[in-house]
Amino acid sequence: MTYKALTASVLRAWIEKSAAALSENRVWLTELDSPIGDADHGNNMERGFAAVLTALPESDDLGVILKAVAMTLISKVGGAAGPLYGTFFLEASKVLQHHDRADGEELAACLKAGVEGVKKRGNSDVGMKTMLDALVPAVTIFRDYIIEDGTILTGLQAAAKAAEEGAKATIPMQAQRGRASYLGERSIGHQDPGATSSYLILQAFADVVVET
Ligand code: ADP
Ligand code: MG
Repeated sequence: MTYKALTASVLRAWIEKSAAALSENRVWLTELDSPIGDADHGNNMERGFAAVLTALPESDDLGVILKAVAMTLISKVGGAAGPLYGTFFLEASKVLQHHDRADGEELAACLKAGVEGVKKRGNSDVGMKTMLDALVPAVTIFRDYIIEDGTILTGLQAAAKAAEEGAKATIPMQAQRGRASYLGERSIGHQDPGATSSYLILQAFADVVVET
C-alpha cells in the first residue's frame, strides 16, 4: 500500500461509506441511546448523513467538501450530535481549505482541529462518556503513527481500533455531558451512542483507504 495523500474522491468515498455504515447500524445506535438517552441517535445519524450525500459537492477542494458536510449536519440533524459532528467537520474544513490533497501530517492536523472544535463546542473532554472518548484516542494515535513514519492507512487502522476501544471504555463511565448525564450513576454500565457512531465513521475511513 503506497497510499500517500487524501484526495477529494477518497474523501467523498469516506463520507459515502460512513453514511452506509451509520444506516446499517441505525438500530444498534438507537438501542444504545435507549437506556441513557432518547432513542434517536441512529435515526439522527442516518438521516443526517443521507442529507449529506445529496449535498456533496463535486469540488476537488477538500475544504469545500468538508464544509458542505458540516453545514448539512448542523442544519439537518437534531439533537446534540448534529451540531457537534458539524463542528468537527467545520473546524476540519478550515485546515484543508484550498487543498486538493492532504498528506498524513495535514490530515492529522485536520482531524485534531475537528476534535478541538468538539471539545470547545461541547464544553467536554475525554472521560465524560461522549463521542470524545472515541475521537480523542483515535486522533492521537493517528498523529503518533504519522510522526513515526506510518502511512495514512496504518494510521487510520490504528485510529479505528482506538476508537472502538474508546467507545467500549465508556461503558463503566458516568456521563457528565448530554442527556445521559441527567441519569447520574444510572448512566454507568452502558456504551455511549455518540462514541459508537464516531468509531463507525473512523472505521469507514480506514475501510475506504484499504480499498483505494
Ligand atoms: P441527543 O442527546 O440530543 O438526543 P443524540 O442522541 O443524537 O442527541 O447524540 C447523543 C450523543 O451526543 C451522546 O452519546 C454523546 O456522545 C454526544 N454528546 C452529547 N453532549 C455532548 C457534549 N457536550 N460533548 C461531546 N459529545 C456530546
Ligand atoms: Mg438522543
